[in-house]
Amino acid sequence: MFQQVQTAPPDSILGLNEAFRNDPNPEKINLSVGVYKDENGVTPVLKCVKQAEKRLLETESTKSYLPIDGRAGYTKSVRELLFGADHEVLTAKRAVTVQTPGGTGALRVAGDFLADSFPGRTLWHSQPTWPNHPNIFTAAGIPLKTYPYFDKATNGLDFAGMMQALKQAPKGDIILLHGCCHNPTGIDPTPEQWKVIGDLIQENELLPLLDFAYQGLGDGLLEDAAGLRELARPGQEMLICSSFSKNFGLYNERVGALTAVAEHEAESVAVLSQLKKVIRSNYSNPPTHGAAVVETVLGDAELKAMWEEELGDMRDRINGIRKLFVDKISACGIDQDFSFIQQQKGMFSFSGLNQMQVDQLRNEMSIYIVGSGRINVAGISEANVDRLCEGIKKVLS
Ligand code: PMP
Repeated sequence: MFQQVQTAPPDSILGLNEAFRNDPNPEKINLSVGVYKDENGVTPVLKCVKQAEKRLLETESTKSYLPIDGRAGYTKSVRELLFGADHEVLTAKRAVTVQTPGGTGALRVAGDFLADSFPGRTLWHSQPTWPNHPNIFTAAGIPLKTYPYFDKATNGLDFAGMMQALKQAPKGDIILLHGCCHNPTGIDPTPEQWKVIGDLIQENELLPLLDFAYQGLGDGLLEDAAGLRELARPGQEMLICSSFSKNFGLYNERVGALTAVAEHEAESVAVLSQLKKVIRSNYSNPPTHGAAVVETVLGDAELKAMWEEELGDMRDRINGIRKLFVDKISACGIDQDFSFIQQQKGMFSFSGLNQMQVDQLRNEMSIYIVGSGRINVAGISEANVDRLCEGIKKVLS
């Protein structure tokens, strides 16, 4: 039977990572996969995580199943991190949260819920977006449309194009937005633009689905939630997919959450029951460890302060590297303007390099960049920035 099975193409990003691992060049540079790296190229375990794990090792008393929707202390902390404890969404009990295996799990649970409860509704995603978005929602059976996002001429947001497209979305359609640190472009709407987006969503009765995988890695925990809080108007419904892979460095523990905000508390109860139904037939209930770590850190003033400091260090390094890269590019005599890299947020930027240049960098210099030209800024360091700029100069000439 399996004779008829065709080999699927490798994942566009994870496949590249595999090629990097097999490359024997000692000077190879990996700017492909979206993982934070410190100055030494290491993806560290945060100190606050280690401390929380020590506590958990001593206090854990059972390995019995979690409830379908996960740890109650964790899901409460997630909501408070998103909105702030006093927000109307929380005091009115309009929000429910389920713990999921990573942000990807949250997106898939959201997709299955939407396909079940609102069959035929279209989901609109930015062009470009994280390549797994179309995979996930297509697998869930949701029809997709795109809205323009990246303006090649300015290396900024094509806000007019985006709004023009979104105005075509009929009532009830789902609008997928990146909460902050847009992947792959690093370009986010300004607070004023978020307001205009919020107005359109409200007036045209659209459902926003916020993918929030990088809270704290742009300008700060609170600052990065500005778009989310702009959309969270009285009575407005929304879905939010959280991930703690990046901001807690908990990639392989698979820690995420899906928060659904209903118009009233009564509807949120029904939504929660549907989310649990989706989860039960999917993975039954989530793993505990990563969520227990996040719950422990967020629930302890000392550990939380330590986390905020460590997150701030990661953010500062990324922003420092953006400046270093732009400075080095101009210092090595490249005429092309790369200053936009400094305005972009989070781990990613669109370098503007095309597929041919990306291929040349990989084949001749062992510098790994995704085909779209997206670079993971956190993969750059003092140690490799000169070699990287040299490579870019070579492929641009
Ligand atoms: N959304 C976006 C935009 C991402 O970049 C990622 C991770 N690359 C995710 C979701 C998924 O994160 P996780 O690893 O927690 O599943």
